[in-house]
Amino acid sequence: MPAPRRRDGAPVRARPDACPGAWRRHDAADGALARFRPVGGAIAPAELRLLAGAADAAPLELTSRGSWQVRGLSVKGADDLAAALATVGGPAPLLDDQGRDVPCSVVASPRSPAVDAPARAVAGALRGRADVPGRLLVAIDDGSGDVLGLGADVAVVLGSPSTLWLAGTPTEATGDDPAGPATLALAAVEAFLAVRGDAWRVAEVGSDAVLGALRAREQERALEHAEVLTSAERTCLEVLPRLGEVTPAAARVLADLGDEGAELRVTPWRTVVLRLRDTAPDDARERLAPHLETGPSRWASLSACVGAPRCAKSHTDVRGDLARAVATGRAGGLLHAHWVGCARACGTPAGPVAVVEGTPGGTYRTIVRTGRVSG
Ligand code: SF4
Repeated sequence: MPAPRRRDGAPVRARPDACPGAWRRHDAADGALARFRPVGGAIAPAELRLLAGAADAAPLELTSRGSWQVRGLSVKGADDLAAALATVGGPAPLLDDQGRDVPCSVVASPRSPAVDAPARAVAGALRGRADVPGRLLVAIDDGSGDVLGLGADVAVVLGSPSTLWLAGTPTEATGDDPAGPATLALAAVEAFLAVRGDAWRVAEVGSDAVLGALRAREQERALEHAEVLTSAERTCLEVLPRLGEVTPAAARVLADLGDEGAELRVTPWRTVVLRLRDTAPDDARERLAPHLETGPSRWASLSACVGAPRCAKSHTDVRGDLARAVATGRAGGLLHAHWVGCARACGTPAGPVAVVEGTPGGTYRTIVRTGRVSG
């Protein structure tokens, strides 16, 4: 008898989504890996210090969905970290005071305060829910298109009215009151959950199925705690951790700048945006320059898997090889290049990319890809 298949023709999954989170860790070769999904990229200085402290001397990692990863944890260390984060509080905490994290990624345009309230409302409504797959990606875009390009499962573009995109495609659904963007995003998420079966992404069931469920529901009630959107202009500084690695020293300076008034936002393109208010120091760039790329950089078009020694499957020390290639001008061009230690090509980003793959013979081969590869 043939195996049962989903509506997109793919086989029914026998296993639940296993994305790591604050409490559900991935058991990696170098210890437990915990992932923390910030709300629209927001991270408080106290949270950053806790993450950096738990990572000890190792760098923190930024993921392609704007999440933080801490590697090499013991089970107790990971539990202690999550418990400590739950005590931090604030408007958009990684974990709330009940220890609940956000089950999926909620990303938002990092430079715009206008996205803060809808991102908080969406994350707040989803926080702690076990029925939301970790692979789901929700985006709140301020109209600049910066996070719209990620092809999120559910994206809302702020405007009058705000518009809904599903799986990277615009729809006719809109929301036109102050609570509209968050209400619209949540309605779409709920519609997806109603029809998803065992699917993890909207594309697996099709946007039409989600739209049908959305229309069938009564237009969603206004959020009880809808917040007034603000659009105050801020000066922003965007800095790049090489390969998404935030060293302890970089984390310290970022946290200090946060204490001094900068609002910190991590992005799905593995950078950190500092929204600088009047009270923020004007020497932020100089203080960060020893630790992060603060101007044009070859590293901007490069990414890599962890490679050896942290991954036992790797044929080589990918990151060390890449650093040497950058230093000698042999890496870092216009086309994004993703260096990997084996054919699994973990973390290959969406869109056109040159995958530079380590081989058993110790050499690399390059494969240019035009679409998404899952690893
Ligand atoms: S691509 Fe290969 S070497 Fe790199 S992290 Fe994945 S399994 Fe390990």
